[in-house]
Amino acid sequence: MKYNDKLNRVISDVAEVAGYLWTKGWAERNGGNISVNVTEMFYNEQRGLLSISKPYAIGRKLESLKGCCFLVTGTGKRMRYVAREPMENMVLLRICEDCEHYELVAEKPILPTSEMPSHLLIHSVLMERGSACKAIIHTHPTDLVAMSHNPAFLEKDVLSKLLWSMIPETRAFCPKGLGIVPYAISGSAQLADATIEQLKDYDVVLWEKHGALSIGTDVIEAFDMIDTLSKSAQIYLTAKSMGFTPAGMTEEQMQELKETFKL
Ligand code: 13P
Ligand code: ZN
Repeated sequence: MKYNDKLNRVISDVAEVAGYLWTKGWAERNGGNISVNVTEMFYNEQRGLLSISKPYAIGRKLESLKGCCFLVTGTGKRMRYVAREPMENMVLLRICEDCEHYELVAEKPILPTSEMPSHLLIHSVLMERGSACKAIIHTHPTDLVAMSHNPAFLEKDVLSKLLWSMIPETRAFCPKGLGIVPYAISGSAQLADATIEQLKDYDVVLWEKHGALSIGTDVIEAFDMIDTLSKSAQIYLTAKSMGFTPAGMTEEQMQELKETFKL
């Protein structure tokens, strides 16, 4: 199917990032999922598209998503194949008039990710807030997930402060840090609700013993945020494996960064 340049750009960005997730080792089998709100860039085309599926229940009424259109990775699809053949592994879907269902509109009848409750709820809150964030990534970064197995790191902002202190970039480019979502079963409304709560204060959240989720204006920005936090986690774990606990930047150095970058 032919799309306009803007949508083609988004499809190619998602494919690029899906490749990164696989090569990073964060996307075993079908691990992870991506969605992008493409309503604005696809408005005229999508109005002409017929539904290619029955309506599927969302499980709640998301009024702010009326008529919105999303590019979403399919459930059970592998990131390494999203990278190679994006539209064989993703679907375009539209929220129905009743705001309680969605229908698939292109290209193949591929069911969207099992994490749709979280993705759609987050997109609806972003729309309500008038946020510029259109992309959501969920992935399984080995280092961050390993750290989430330590209860001490799950206390509010403990992990944010530790990761910020590993390298200046993390403090500068992830200024809000990392929110923590207690363990909840994949794809559940409970996981979605707890994630939304954390996204009031953070752009990236860590799902305990499962993975990370980030939001961004585009999929590259959402990826960069998790990548930067993972870099800090790598520095911490590398120092630990060399037999010492890294000193971390001092309070003074952190304060200087805050002032320099106006954080
Ligand atoms: P999906 O294949 O349904 O997207 O599930 C992957 C995943 O990571 C669930 O948390
Ligand atoms: Zn997952």
